[in-house]
Amino acid sequence: MRRILVTNDDGIYAEGLRCLAESLEELGEVWIVAPDREQSASSHAITLHRPLRVTEVDERTFAVDGTPADCVNIAVNGLLKFRPDLVASGINRGGNLGDDVTYSGTVSAAMEATLLGIPAFSISLAGRENLNYTPAGQFARRLAEIVFRHGMPSEGVFLNVNVPPVSSVSEIKGVAFTVQGRRKYGEAIVEKVDPRGRKYYWIGGDELGFEYIENSDIVMVLRRYISVTPLHLDLTHRESLRILEDWKNELEKF
Ligand code: MN
Repeated sequence: MRRILVTNDDGIYAEGLRCLAESLEELGEVWIVAPDREQSASSHAITLHRPLRVTEVDERTFAVDGTPADCVNIAVNGLLKFRPDLVASGINRGGNLGDDVTYSGTVSAAMEATLLGIPAFSISLAGRENLNYTPAGQFARRLAEIVFRHGMPSEGVFLNVNVPPVSSVSEIKGVAFTVQGRRKYGEAIVEKVDPRGRKYYWIGGDELGFEYIENSDIVMVLRRYISVTPLHLDLTHRESLRILEDWKNELEKF
């Protein structure tokens, strides 16, 4: 019997989480350990300076007053009495594409699982309104089946999936294996004054366009492909190591 851990960053009552859990039920026993409220853009944060509380809200369903990474960590290292065969995170409300991946709690839950040596994927629905999670759920089930059959493509790698917002599966053009794209960020800070006369700032989330990178997650989702990006946690830029060698003599004269 396979056991699958499902989590997210939109919180335990999110529609996408329910869809993902239901989609994976045919493949094994689904356990949900998810944040008790929305934790979007919580990145890979873990909670170290206060206790974490876990509430059993249903059969095999637990709410945690922490981040997505907390959920995976607690589940795997203590709460569950077994090691899950797969961790699936999502289905996020909104895409996790390009640079946004580094802010994403959804993606970080899959990262945390990868650090713990468990096969994982994150899955997001790249739209904002009138979202139909069913096609993404169907794809998640298929992907999980294939991961069970083949394992992950490489050690230390997880898959970040983005599904275009469509009303039915037939509108999807296919599956594309992609590279991480690049967004263009602008001056999206809102500066205002609060009722007590103090200034406040609000970081805007407006989508301001993207760089056109062929075969990037952003471009392929716009073309209505399901994007699958293999990600790993090693952020080292290896080419720069060679360039840095030229700095060495100067740098060592400190
Ligand atoms: Mn989210």
